[in-house]
Amino acid sequence: MTHIVPDLKPVHVIGGGLAGSEAAWQLAVRDVPVVLHEMRPVRGTDAHKTDGLAELVCSNSFRSDDWENNAVGLLHEEMRRCGSLVMRAADQHKLPAGGALAVDRDAFSAEITATLAAHPRVTIAREEVAGLPPADWDSVIIATGPLTSPALAEAILKLTGEAALSFFDAIAPIVHYDSIDLGVAWKQSRYDKAGPGGTGADYLNCPMNREQYEAFVDALLSGDKTSFKEWEANTPYFDGCLPVEVMAERGRETLRFGPLKPVGLANPHEGGKRPYAVIQLRQDNALGSLWNMVGFQTKLKHAEQVRVFRMIPGLQNAEFARLGGLHRNTFLNSPKLLDRQLRLKADPRLRFAGQVTGVEGYVESAAIGLLAGRFAAEERQGRATIPPPPTTALGALVNHITGGHLLVEGEETAGQRTGSFQPMNINFGLIPAIEPPTHDAAGNRVKGKDKGFAKKRAAAHRAIADLTAWLG
Ligand SMILES: Cc1cc2nc3c(=O)[nH]c(=O)nc-3n(C[C@H](O)[C@H](O)[C@H](O)COP(=O)(O)OP(=O)(O)OC[C@H]3O[C@@H](n4cnc5c(N)ncnc54)[C@H](O)[C@@H]3O)c2cc1C
Repeated sequence: MTHIVPDLKPVHVIGGGLAGSEAAWQLAVRDVPVVLHEMRPVRGTDAHKTDGLAELVCSNSFRSDDWENNAVGLLHEEMRRCGSLVMRAADQHKLPAGGALAVDRDAFSAEITATLAAHPRVTIAREEVAGLPPADWDSVIIATGPLTSPALAEAILKLTGEAALSFFDAIAPIVHYDSIDLGVAWKQSRYDKAGPGGTGADYLNCPMNREQYEAFVDALLSGDKTSFKEWEANTPYFDGCLPVEVMAERGRETLRFGPLKPVGLANPHEGGKRPYAVIQLRQDNALGSLWNMVGFQTKLKHAEQVRVFRMIPGLQNAEFARLGGLHRNTFLNSPKLLDRQLRLKADPRLRFAGQVTGVEGYVESAAIGLLAGRFAAEERQGRATIPPPPTTALGALVNHITGGHLLVEGEETAGQRTGSFQPMNINFGLIPAIEPPTHDAAGNRVKGKDKGFAKKRAAAHRAIADLTAWLG
């Protein structure tokens, strides 16, 4: 039964994309009035083409819908159980796509627009919020996405500081730790330097001899690449993070004097010999299950990355949690700036949601919108807010953006943000590992590849059980 609470002040949601639409819905169904400010069609972005809410700017796929074996499928299922509007509309307008959830983008967006417009608790204001929200908006969710309008981005930059907002993601691939061959790679920091909080053995090193290095440079040079879109090439922020293949183009030795330099490293598998070149990986999450390839931002196409990066000794069987990229993207240094309820520590009336928090993808953005809407509603109603358990896909995402990511000490220099926090899709590496059953239902020992599947299934079942308990 709905109960009307007429005197609640509205929560303001800025941005009617995937995250903002979901956040507005979560507020409205909890009887909290919401004003959804969307600047289209008054002002457009470089990627959106319509004035519909929750427009899918590129692919029409929500990726795998297999909740037991795929982390994004698990996120779908958790969101459905949390009453997600985005998932409801996706399910209503799905198209045949094998194991993936693909949607009719126009019908999907029209459904969300009509549902929100028809809700008595929702007011849609077609306007740009071109600066910090007015002081009398005491609860705000900023969900303005990768293409946040310049005026608002500028205001956020002023509030949070130069090093706290990025305009490009420079994504290096991330590898699952248990797919790295430790018979080839070894742990050592350059010159065994411990540094603040380090042990002297904080990097995983993959060695190359001369022939391997030359073949690798050739593969980088000839690999199939994507190009910058015109509006991306004109954004003056990507100078500091050259793609690895562009470095290779500058000279055959450039990489060996750059990110692949072997100095201060001795290979214990070869009697302490210094390799010709070294690829380093650095721990990426607090669980230690994910490691990123240092300095390997790239415009190589995804299939090429898998082929070329598996040429690296020690990574011949690498499983990638994320592949590299370089895109126009506005996102916060969330692990530093946001609390566990997605509020800006410096000004807690402002919450952030969606891609701007450092998640990646339609589903992940909507998922953070779902949580931000829920948290803001609970706060408005004076109820306690408990974030979802870290064993769930929803909790793992919150953990990635607000806690689980490792900030590398000393990497943030004045005016230049070089910390390694980068946007990320949901994957099982973000969820704490679980020991799978040793035997299957028929009593046979689980071996080889089946062990990996069993691990995912065990984590997925635990996630749904923990989510159910959390939803209470
Ligand atoms: C070119 C491009 C291609 C992409 N392709 C894919 C893909 O294929 N698959 C995938 O999963 N992800 C893709 N992404 C990522 C995708 O943008 C996000 O996954 C998702 O749309 C982010 O959701 P969001 O709600 O955070 O932002 P958005 O969906 O972008 O929504 C943000 C909304 O805020 C509005 N807005 C911005 N500034 C203001 C302001 N100041 N005042 C009022 N309104 C404002 C915008 O008009 C927009 O409607 C792509 C991104 C880009 C830029």
